[in-house]
Amino acid sequence: MSLFIESLKDGRNVWLNGKRIDITEDTNFRGTLTTIESLFSQLTNPKLQPLIGYFDDDLQQWVHKAFYLPRNITELQERRTAFEAWAKDTNGMMSRLSDYARSRVAGWYANREAYRELDPHFPGKIEAYYHIAKRENRFIAIVQRDPQINRSANEYYNTKKLGLLRITKKTNEGVYINGAKMIGTSAPYAHDIIVYPLAPLDEAKKDLAHMLIVPANAKGLHMVCRESFAEASQVEHSLSAQYDEMDAVLIFDDVFVPWERVLLHDNPIALAQLKVDSISNSLAYHQAIVRLQTKLSFMAAVANAMAHVIGADGYLHVQEKLGELIIQIRTIEGLIIAAEQNGKLEKDIYIPDFNYIQTARVLGTKYYPNAVEIIQLIGAGGLIQLPSSMADLSGQISQLTQQYYKGKNATAEERTKLFKLAWDLIGSPFGSRHELYERFYSGDPMLQTADMWRKYDKKEWTRQLAPFWKNC
Ligand SMILES: Cc1cc2nc3c(=O)[nH]c(=O)nc-3n(C[C@H](O)[C@H](O)[C@H](O)COP(=O)(O)OP(=O)(O)OC[C@H]3O[C@@H](n4cnc5c(N)ncnc54)[C@H](O)[C@@H]3O)c2cc1C
Repeated sequence: MSLFIESLKDGRNVWLNGKRIDITEDTNFRGTLTTIESLFSQLTNPKLQPLIGYFDDDLQQWVHKAFYLPRNITELQERRTAFEAWAKDTNGMMSRLSDYARSRVAGWYANREAYRELDPHFPGKIEAYYHIAKRENRFIAIVQRDPQINRSANEYYNTKKLGLLRITKKTNEGVYINGAKMIGTSAPYAHDIIVYPLAPLDEAKKDLAHMLIVPANAKGLHMVCRESFAEASQVEHSLSAQYDEMDAVLIFDDVFVPWERVLLHDNPIALAQLKVDSISNSLAYHQAIVRLQTKLSFMAAVANAMAHVIGADGYLHVQEKLGELIIQIRTIEGLIIAAEQNGKLEKDIYIPDFNYIQTARVLGTKYYPNAVEIIQLIGAGGLIQLPSSMADLSGQISQLTQQYYKGKNATAEERTKLFKLAWDLIGSPFGSRHELYERFYSGDPMLQTADMWRKYDKKEWTRQLAPFWKNC
């Protein structure tokens, strides 16, 4: 068994289909863990090391570039190249390979002194964790949202009733926590899980204002997986077979967290600042939009191939739809470049401009569903005109199926393989989960969009309107 997979044999409580499972042995995790293992092992491959990692002089070892703190635009672009490499290896289908969470940790570490006044212990704790995570190549997941029990505003802070995560006991050694969080993408095979609330909290709710790092094998932590979408066959379900990032609800049943991993407690002000920390946010979401661009490009490649195979690419409206996909790719690409070019030095770290990053991120919540729709509109019934198995193309009935399953520009095998890929991408449970993911992974898109208006510098609007109207 390989190193990464071996490291997950640590007594963690992962639940699937009513049973506590060993994910290193369970077939539902095989494809995903094999993919992650192959990506993580690139750090030991002399040819790939410089692409995805950097040599850390203090540690005297190669570490992943998500831990890298760029000092100028060239170093920021090198970081981007590392993210692109993993995104391309997985066609953007794996969003939580830890590069996002590691970037967050790196950003908080870089900006740690800004929090000393709010909590004198925070800088030392995040510094220690940053170095451990880097040295041990730790896989990190982040989970923030509370379980969806009752979202009506007046009920929201009834912590016990709603299962909101809270500290229930403090000792000299650490704290005990109870409650639940959703959704922990990749948590079942992470080493550590960073836990903090997404909801804004004020002083009156300070008993919920914590940031903790919990090892995935902590006693009392139960990770309840959603239904697995992993498929065994790489031929019939090429994406589901390799890239099913598992999501789980995390239940903390009297979980002990030592003080050195309680980054913050009872501190809504520090927590609010950490959540919008400019270095952490910019570095982490830079990774997210780089991955998005690769994924949109993959969607366009599939749509284009489908149109070609069935001879639909001659129609103007199909060309228009394909052009729309290209506009989406170029827009995100342009925003990545704009973010990098308009970056600035903050605490000696060169960070990309968050305004462009946020624009790309919010656009992604619309672009991805739009790409799904375009694949549906181009593929149409062909997405269902698929044999249950590739075997139908070579078995007894093959003489007939070979004739009726072919495309204008493809054999029956070629057309079927491509359309099965497209169905896996947009129609399978795996594909539907991806659409939901892109809409929601970084919060409610409605709030994100409204937030752009709230934070926009409106001085120029006032100046433009001044000759006509002076009300604002
Ligand atoms: C596939 C997937 C993977 C994810 N992975 C992660 C992860 O790894 N880590 C993580 O932390 N989170 C993850 N998330 C969760 C994500 O953060 C949430 O889905 C997102 O923040 C939206 O919250 P919610 O799902 O609780 O929706 P809700 O907040 O329950 O929203 C439900 C509906 O109610 C409306 N609503 C709710 N509250 C309000 C309000 N106050 N005002 C107006 N309207 C309201 C919403 O607009 C929406 O229409 C993931 C989500 C998905 C779908």
